[in-house]
Amino acid sequence: MSDQYKTLWDEQIETLPSDRLQETIEQPRLLERLRWAFERSPFWRDKFLRAGLSLRDVKNGFPITALPFTEKDELLQDQIQHPPYGWLCSVPMTDILRVHRTSGTTARPLFIVLTALDVQHTLEAGARAFWCAGVRPDDTVVHCLNYCLWSGGLTDHLSLEKTGATVIPFGVGNSRFLLETMLQLKPTAISCTPTYLNTLAELLDKEFQRKPRELGLRKGLFGGEPGLQNPGTRTVLENTWGIEAVDANYGMSDVLSIFGSECRERNGLHFHGQGIVWSELIHPDTGESIPIRSGAVGELVLTTLLREGQPLFRLRTHDIAKIVGADGCRCGRSGFRFLILGRSDNMITVKGVNVFPDALHDIFFRYPEQLTGEYRMVLKHEGPYDLLDVQVEARASCADRERETLKHEMEGIVRRTLSVRIEIEWVGERTFPRGEGKTSRLVRAFRSQP
Ligand SMILES: [Zn+2]
Repeated sequence: MSDQYKTLWDEQIETLPSDRLQETIEQPRLLERLRWAFERSPFWRDKFLRAGLSLRDVKNGFPITALPFTEKDELLQDQIQHPPYGWLCSVPMTDILRVHRTSGTTARPLFIVLTALDVQHTLEAGARAFWCAGVRPDDTVVHCLNYCLWSGGLTDHLSLEKTGATVIPFGVGNSRFLLETMLQLKPTAISCTPTYLNTLAELLDKEFQRKPRELGLRKGLFGGEPGLQNPGTRTVLENTWGIEAVDANYGMSDVLSIFGSECRERNGLHFHGQGIVWSELIHPDTGESIPIRSGAVGELVLTTLLREGQPLFRLRTHDIAKIVGADGCRCGRSGFRFLILGRSDNMITVKGVNVFPDALHDIFFRYPEQLTGEYRMVLKHEGPYDLLDVQVEARASCADRERETLKHEMEGIVRRTLSVRIEIEWVGERTFPRGEGKTSRLVRAFRSQP
């Protein structure tokens, strides 16, 4: 069978049951990586010694849960104290092949160093993910993520290439030039954030008097925003563009640029880091381990098993995941499938109910004639909250009377489907900036008490 028709990227590891995978591959790699870090990184040696662990414990072997958790802030502090890469860095400068930087959600981003082997493993997981999402050698993909330091640009580009597809390195911005290029080269797929397609549709209409379907795209590979898991959002994108919209790009630049994507079953994101990253689920408040089985909800905690440059052990991601399947999928892959519900620090509790701002996306997307689909959840004071204020962009053509009816209707839908009360405030079209990267839908409009 030629590569083009195979259904799995790496059948051996993708079909291995998770208990066999952990026992035969992941546990030995964990011990090997711990030895590596103990011997080469003062950061990890100090952290492990402080937790009462010694190299002898590692030699005797022990469960991953015996290791302390790691917060991203510890890594940042280490790089601030020992610039530029910190004592976390476990290889000499000559072994560093590439440097990335995390996107700036925190005051100071983290530098990520990769050796040649680290790059290879990162691309391996990326290729599994894109292959699973349906990218094939006969595709031409225009890649529209940021290439400036961020791993989503160059690294994901190389993962796309590894599937055999043709890749056009576009990056972000220059949207008019992008559309010109797409009209000339007729790519079969676009890789970007889902909201960027709205920007492109508006521009295509205004500057080229063309409809999205005229571009001839067949696939949309999306990442960076969780909106695609809302069926309404996906249907609007698919109908507008005539594409198959796939959630194809979930990852973290400090762990693996991509390790989650959907298969054709569209039943959650397959985990693609088998043998490269060990994933655990924990209770975000207590740190207690939660078994990975269907229906489980918890924070993802990740450990790199092969990373040379910057090994990471039990990194708390603060992403809350729901496991939607932990046994075989109809596509043949045996790993677990998950959905990201939101960030634990974006989780708002309203009268005991946990809500993420992105959960409202599907509801506002049901009214494309009246609404742009853009909104912000605005916290006007510190919690606790009885009600959430939401600013929603209405189209200029949406009249006052229509807005009044819509407001009641949507507030009712949210109350029934999410069990929380919201208060909608209308704002004009294009009030919110159009993102080419990640869009945050939560605004804290108050000054925190020191
Ligand atoms: Zn599957």
